[in-house]
Amino acid sequence: MNNTLHIVGGGMAGSEAAWQAARLGVNVVIHEMRPKVETFAHKTGHLAEMVCSNSFRSDDDEQNAVGLLHWEMRQAGGLIMACADAHRLPAGGALAVDRDPFAEAVTRQLLDHPRISVSHEEITALPEDGHWIIATGPLTSSALGQAIAAETGAEALAFFDAIAPIVYFDSVDMDIAWMQSRYDKGDTEAERTAYLNCPMDKAQYEAFIDALLAADKTEFHEGETAGYFDGCLPIEVMAERGRETLRHGPMKPVGLTNAHAPESKAHAVVQLRRDNALGTLYNIVGFQTKMKYGAQTEVFRMIPGLQNARFARLGGIHRNTFLNSPTLLDAGMRLKSRPHIRFAGQITGVEGYVESAAMGLLAGRLAAAEMRGTPLSTPPETTATGALITHISGGAEAKSFQPMNVNFGLFPPVEGLRGGRRGRKDRYKAYTDRAKADWTGWLGQTALDAA
Ligand SMILES: Cc1cc2nc3c(=O)[nH]c(=O)nc-3n(C[C@H](O)[C@H](O)[C@H](O)COP(=O)(O)OP(=O)(O)OC[C@H]3O[C@@H](n4cnc5c(N)ncnc54)[C@H](O)[C@@H]3O)c2cc1C
Repeated sequence: MNNTLHIVGGGMAGSEAAWQAARLGVNVVIHEMRPKVETFAHKTGHLAEMVCSNSFRSDDDEQNAVGLLHWEMRQAGGLIMACADAHRLPAGGALAVDRDPFAEAVTRQLLDHPRISVSHEEITALPEDGHWIIATGPLTSSALGQAIAAETGAEALAFFDAIAPIVYFDSVDMDIAWMQSRYDKGDTEAERTAYLNCPMDKAQYEAFIDALLAADKTEFHEGETAGYFDGCLPIEVMAERGRETLRHGPMKPVGLTNAHAPESKAHAVVQLRRDNALGTLYNIVGFQTKMKYGAQTEVFRMIPGLQNARFARLGGIHRNTFLNSPTLLDAGMRLKSRPHIRFAGQITGVEGYVESAAMGLLAGRLAAAEMRGTPLSTPPETTATGALITHISGGAEAKSFQPMNVNFGLFPPVEGLRGGRRGRKDRYKAYTDRAKADWTGWLGQTALDAA
């Protein structure tokens, strides 16, 4: 067997993938372009540099999906979690990390590993053969980005995300909202009722526009451009262009009849579209935004029907290179058109340090197991890692695919439990108990430490 795994990008995902594969007995070369070639966000030549916040978010593995992902990576002997734990800072229930010592520790452990070497070079083309993982992240260099786009088709590789907020279906007030597609379009009942609609009268609409205009917004990072604006204006920018703009755009009320009050004509309607096959998540159509997170929850809960909404993720617009993974990748994270190449990390359409590291962990194990001739199945979708890979490799709607954080909306429901806000604590505990048992079972199949 050709026993070298090449990993492009030594960030969160590439570092974890290298560690996992090396522990499985595979030789690894990490190709990392920094410090020779820089990005606008990275400041050092370390592997696994945290480019912005120093938080790995919640560390609660019973009630929080990110905390569960921490737990799963710790159980799998993850390097990123071990170094984060070693350089933890006080932060209540969150896992905050002392960023420089953390990145230095990851770098040192990788360099010290007898099966891992690091080559500081930019990879600019897709490899023709061998075993590869591409984990070049949101700021993939432009030459490699172009090479990927040439392989996948330009429309399947995005350079910016435009994320509309995503709401848990069970937090929508269905005494106010109703299901209907505009003009009842569609051949089946499911298509004719594909959208969730939230009606506004004139006073509610005017108050909503005022709140949008007044809300705190996030500035662009240096080096980001606003060149994406043509196709996906943030809603607050649309509102700035004119108070009626949204009513003629994503909030137009035409072709819809309020199921709760058929005679009353809404002044504006907010539509939500199903975001995953499970039907647990809905995104607010056309509501990409640069509003700060606190402002978003306040403003979006002004929408009738969403007054108690819980958000699986809030909106954002960032410089972000990512694949349309649901169409391009198989469940083993391989590029369907070139199966000797896997993708991992944020470029696969997950978002955040933790999710990216988890996708690296999985890609490293899958690649190494395949190279050793003992291919591994992907973890069950009841686990946090499995829920994420299931979502990006097919569970998500390909047409509107945008990067995703881990959240309980990605998990298959546990039957027989109370829904809504009241049942949440028991429900989340049931999800995490089930995930832990299933992850332990999956890890047991890999016999990783035998190597
Ligand atoms: C401005 C900005 C702010 C962010 N803030 C946060 C935050 O606060 N919290 C959070 O959780 N996430 C944040 N993210 C997302 C975060 O960066 C990612 O979730 C995480 O780092 C992704 O891990 P990764 O391994 O996929 O990519 P990265 O960690 O970015 O690693 C990719 C590596 O690939 C290298 N590389 C790129 N192209 C090539 C090439 N052609 N050849 C060789 N090497 C290459 C890069 O130098 C880099 O080291 C932010 C992203 C950006 C851009």
